[in-house]
Amino acid sequence: MPYCIKVKGDFPAAHFLTGEGIHGHNFSVEVGVYGGLNEEFMVMDFSDLKNAVDEICDELDHRVLVPSKNAKLSEESIEIQNEPGYIFPISDVAVLPVESTTAECLAKYIHLRLKERINKKISVSLSEKEGCSAAYTE
Ligand SMILES: [Zn+2]
Repeated sequence: MPYCIKVKGDFPAAHFLTGEGIHGHNFSVEVGVYGGLNEEFMVMDFSDLKNAVDEICDELDHRVLVPSKNAKLSEESIEIQNEPGYIFPISDVAVLPVESTTAECLAKYIHLRLKERINKKISVSLSEKEGCSAAYTE
């Protein structure tokens, strides 16, 4: 699979990690898709890939990213039970099936979502700030 095409997306969001209170980042994501060329001499259409990445970024945009673990959901709010403990209106959060919202776990989550649609080797690199990123490739 000698070719790789890449697209980028970004989303501002807030998260909290063990020992770190809630704070925000302008997360940026770079997605690479690996493969050979199809009959149109491309790995896949750039706009199809960009649309898939943007759709996921839009779901996370301006949300508080919450791991489903330790979250207690009700109709209108979500309570985070581990320290320091928060209650958010449900409309402001994105509840994700991850252990934590580290860059590593978020990269893997976005990878999982893209794999549902793209049956190729994919690399997702997620950055919290310029020069620091975590990637998940499979
Ligand atoms: Zn952070």
